[in-house]
Amino acid sequence: MINNNTYNYLLSDLKKLKGIGIKTSNLLKKKKINTIFDLLWKLPKSYTDRSISTKIKDLKIGETQTVTLIPYKYNFPRIRNLPNRVNCKDDTGLLDCVFFNSYEGYVKKILPLDKEITVSGKINHFRNKYQITNPKYVSQDASLVKDKHNKYSLTEGISEKVYNNIINQILKNLPKLEEWHNPNILKKFNNISWNEAIIKLHLPKNVGNYKSDFYQRLAYDEILSSFLVHTEIRRKIKKIKKQKKIFDLKDQNKLLSRLDFKLTNDQKKTLDEINIDLKSDHKMFRLLQGDVGSGKTIVSLAAAYNIIKSGYQVAVMAPTEILARQHFSLAKKIFDKNINIGLLSSKSEYKEKKIIIKKLKGNNIDIIFGTHAIFQKKIEFKKLGLIIIDEQHKFGVNQRKKLSDKGGESCDVLLMSATPIPRTLTMTIYGDMDLSIIREKPKSRLGVKTYSKLESKIDDIVKFIKKEIKKGNQIFWVCPLIDVSKKLDHSSVLKKYEYLKNIFPNQVELLHGKTDIDKKELVLNNFLKKKFQILVSTTIIEVGIDFPNANVIVIENANKFGLSQLHQLRGRVGRGNKQSTCILMFKSSLTDNAKKRFNILKNSTDGFEISEEDMKIRGYGDILGFKQSGIKIFKLADPVHNNELFELAENEIKQMENKNEDISRYKTLMKLYDQADIINDIN
Ligand code: ADP
Ligand code: MG
Repeated sequence: MINNNTYNYLLSDLKKLKGIGIKTSNLLKKKKINTIFDLLWKLPKSYTDRSISTKIKDLKIGETQTVTLIPYKYNFPRIRNLPNRVNCKDDTGLLDCVFFNSYEGYVKKILPLDKEITVSGKINHFRNKYQITNPKYVSQDASLVKDKHNKYSLTEGISEKVYNNIINQILKNLPKLEEWHNPNILKKFNNISWNEAIIKLHLPKNVGNYKSDFYQRLAYDEILSSFLVHTEIRRKIKKIKKQKKIFDLKDQNKLLSRLDFKLTNDQKKTLDEINIDLKSDHKMFRLLQGDVGSGKTIVSLAAAYNIIKSGYQVAVMAPTEILARQHFSLAKKIFDKNINIGLLSSKSEYKEKKIIIKKLKGNNIDIIFGTHAIFQKKIEFKKLGLIIIDEQHKFGVNQRKKLSDKGGESCDVLLMSATPIPRTLTMTIYGDMDLSIIREKPKSRLGVKTYSKLESKIDDIVKFIKKEIKKGNQIFWVCPLIDVSKKLDHSSVLKKYEYLKNIFPNQVELLHGKTDIDKKELVLNNFLKKKFQILVSTTIIEVGIDFPNANVIVIENANKFGLSQLHQLRGRVGRGNKQSTCILMFKSSLTDNAKKRFNILKNSTDGFEISEEDMKIRGYGDILGFKQSGIKIFKLADPVHNNELFELAENEIKQMENKNEDISRYKTLMKLYDQADIINDIN
């Protein structure tokens, strides 16, 4: 039996601790430390080791050291402001203990003459003599001085002593929790219990001991807990019974045969996975993940087609109007003429909108494309069977959960992401969904050749561009924004626009963050229609839009971008059948790190591989701003360094699912680590 009271101690308010009042508790709360459990992860950064005695002749100035010595003379000057001084010695040299603002009586008491005393403190040097100023660690009992103390990166207003006291108090009162891991797992961590592990984690000598069994166990606890919560959400969604969607794959295959290309194996595989879900009696909650240009759109449209054939409606949400319109046009082109296809644009006339809303309600539109506007309250569907969301990597777990509830019980959900991320991160971020991954790119692609070029060689680039334009091709020219003391500066992109316009009159247009939305749509549409050849822009253009005719991208100051972002930018080209080129421009000599990034890009176009490398270089938190996207920030676990722990947890979860194991034994773990609502429903 799990005793609720045991873990409740850990989840109690900080004020339960002795020595923490409202003031300290508020200081900690500012740092998001709300419970005793949260404090456990406030780890020592280092420690002060006073355990080793040093002879006076071997002392090092500036360091905190411990010496055993004999006081032999007091100097208590009668002049105010001069310190009291005690001359001490050992068999190798002399040292003074110096006391400012101390009573003679106190000094005499702690440093009696001719007795062996152990003193510890920071060693300094004054008039050719060693000294320790205001020593706090002084005793005739050496064992009281010779210890190790943890050093914390301190929250302002809380002293090291208070910290040590609080933490020691918690460690002393640590409840004995019932083990949640099974024996096989536990063996991998030398059978160390959670309690032991926590205590070891805080031992001074163990600071930074990442490879140790206690550290690994605790990191694993954290990973497993997060996966368990995801799995529970997924299970809950899957438990929702729905009407099976009934359709004949012959129709789908007819549709696909009308395309001027064949699906890649990965496209086929993922479409099969989706179809199985659609036909089943449980709700689909699936992520289709694939690099830019891997062909996710057609997979999702084929699935949509099947849904329509089974008598349901489909809603497709894109992040921008232009992308919604692009999907809409593609559907118009490939779907049967009798399928009713709608586009809900923010620019649609009021009357037109009203008609669309009415049609949706009456099931007279089979598939609707739009931005998030299609999920407004006033929009009702008669029989919504599938929600497709394109380029959704900005949603967090909670938003996704809401979304899956939105369409009602019979509505399947397909999310698409063009952001390849390392596997460990995918597990961490999207563990609540089933995954379909497209790795393979269409074979017809000639790929993107990637070069790096010094900015001073810009004439060569211009020459190259002239040639490409002659062949009828189009060019992206990307300039980063310059951050002038937090105000974004567009001058570099404006300058480049002027420069290129001079060389290529009437062939250049400009886009940046201050361009208004209508103008932006106009420019992008004109670029699509080949009304001009060079688009100079900041990084604002979404990667999802398909510009099959653009085959060159020049990225200025490329060394300023992260690996994944460069890969995403590069993904704007190389979608047609032409040879594409990406030119990474840089100003002057590259750092080793930038060279490394460039080389990885030159040698790979596989977004998944690139993201793994990116994570190795930058750590997981920074990858494409995932911190903002609701990704769980681990306390100890690290998707870069604990790869094998993530795999272990993944396997464990799979086994549990296969055996349909009861997970109530993990309740304490989940309660402590995730404090998620979902846990309340576990028996
Ligand atoms: P993304 O995965 O980034 O959404 P898209 O679906 O926009 O990619 O596809 C990019 C381009 O590749 C489109 O022009 C599309 O027609 C084309 N395409 C998709 N699948 C294939 C394929 N199997 N063979 C050749 N071209 C394909
Ligand atoms: Mg896309």
